[in-house]
Amino acid sequence: MNNKPSLWKQTMNKVRTWARMNSIGAIHFNSGSCNGCDIEILATLTPRYDVERFGIKLHGSPRHADVLLVTGPVTRQARERLIRTYEQMPEPKFVISVGACSISGGVFDGCYNVGGSVDEVIPVDVFVPGCPPRPEAIIDGIIQLLGELQGGVPRPVAKPKIVEEVSS
Ligand code: SF4
Repeated sequence: MNNKPSLWKQTMNKVRTWARMNSIGAIHFNSGSCNGCDIEILATLTPRYDVERFGIKLHGSPRHADVLLVTGPVTRQARERLIRTYEQMPEPKFVISVGACSISGGVFDGCYNVGGSVDEVIPVDVFVPGCPPRPEAIIDGIIQLLGELQGGVPRPVAKPKIVEEVSS
């Protein structure tokens, strides 16, 4: 028996991947961060880093999001909300764990109110280390994810045309 998907299915999968690649919806969840990582995520949205040039937009509802960006260790209080947020996202969904605390607990590891790292609660696709990770590292994590979606081929990243240092 031939298990190969039909030409129609293959074409539809290609169209779906193409559409998803160019209109990623992201949602940010702070599961117990000190806000350092959150500020770096906000920085990726500024004109200086401009993550929207990849078609990525931050959404307020998990029901409209493809990618969940999680910062901080998972506190006992946030654990249920993180699971609920993940469950509310439509399939296929992806998770990026941003910062040392979300990967391993970081400086909060062992605290009485911390329940563990993000991958101990929900499945994680990409880890972005750093305390906090620079906006470039967060964008790199998103590009890695887009590369995986495209079948392992990393998406070419255009360098910003004008890079001006802010004089102090
Ligand atoms: S990784 Fe650093 S900046 Fe991010 S939440 Fe932990 S302590 Fe804060």
